Amino acid sequence: MAKGILNRESLLSGVHVLDGGLASELEYLGADIRGPLWSARVLEEAPEKIVAVHRAYIDAGADIIETASYQVSRMGYAEVGLDPARADGALRNSVALAREAAALYPDRRILVAASLGPYGAALHNGAEYHGNYSCTFADLIEFHRQRIDVLASAPPGLTPDLLAFETIPSLAEAEAVGQALGSHPELTAWFSFTCRDEQHVAHGERLRQCAAAVASFPQTVAVGINCTQPSLVRSLIAELREGSDRTILVYPNSGEGWDAEHRRWTGTSDTRAYGEEAREWFEAGAQIIGGCCRTRPAHIREVRTAV
Ligand SMILES: [Zn+2]
Repeated sequence: MAKGILNRESLLSGVHVLDGGLASELEYLGADIRGPLWSARVLEEAPEKIVAVHRAYIDAGADIIETASYQVSRMGYAEVGLDPARADGALRNSVALAREAAALYPDRRILVAASLGPYGAALHNGAEYHGNYSCTFADLIEFHRQRIDVLASAPPGLTPDLLAFETIPSLAEAEAVGQALGSHPELTAWFSFTCRDEQHVAHGERLRQCAAAVASFPQTVAVGINCTQPSLVRSLIAELREGSDRTILVYPNSGEGWDAEHRRWTGTSDTRAYGEEAREWFEAGAQIIGGCCRTRPAHIREVRTAV
C-alpha cells in the first residue's frame, strides 16, 4: 500500500484509464458466473481466467486494474453457507492475481486497486441500489473494517496500491467506511458512488455532499461515480467538482438497460459512442475513466484513444 502523503499525491499522476467490467468478460471466457458469489467462485475454480481478463484490459490500455473481489466478504460467504474464513484468503488471492497480471508488463506502470463492494452487495438482493439497509451503523463499520484489516496486513508485494470503495449507495455507508479506515491513516482509497439521477446518489443524498464528506478523510485520493447510466455522467462530474477538489473518476455502465423483472440486460452498447462520451467526460473534468457493468476491453480501448 502506498505509504505516506507524498506517495499518495503522486500515485495517480499520469493515470487516466481504469479497466472495465469483470463479469461479462469472465462469461465470455467461459467461466461459470451463476450464483450469488460468482467472482469468488471463479477466484477459487479458475484463477487463470481472472488473470486473462486483467491482461485483456491492460492490453486495451488500462493504467489501473481492479481485483476480482467486489463480492468477497466474511458476511457474504456466511450468507451462502461458506466458511467466512475463506473470504480472507480469497481477498488476498485476488490481489495476488492482479499483481501477477501486472508483472507481465514490466515496461508499464500498472496500479492495482482492491475492489470493495458495499454492504448491500453481500446481501445478494440488490440492496446496494437503494441503500436502505436494516443493519446498524456499527454493523456497517465492522463489515468494512474486516476487509480493510485483511488487506492492510497482507505481506509486502501482495498489497494493493489503493482500496476502491465502489457502488456506494449512501452518505451513511461512505461515512462508515471513513470510520473503518480511521485506524489506518497510511492507506490510500477512492470512493465511488452509484447514482440514481443527475444529482443524487442511489439512497437520495446530493452527490456533492457525499464527495465533500469523503474528501475530508486523509486516505482519499479520488472521488467518483460508477454503476450508473452514462447519460447522467456529465452532470454528476459537476456535482463531484462542487463537493471536492480530489481527482475525479467515472466508470459508468455500458448504456444497456437492466430489466429487473426479467433479470436481464436490454439494448446494446456502441463502443465508439462510449469513446466519444469519454472524450466529453475528460473535457468536463474527469481525470480517470473506465467502465462498470457490461463494459468490455473494446470500450476501454476507445477510452484510451480518447485520452
Ligand atoms: Zn456496474
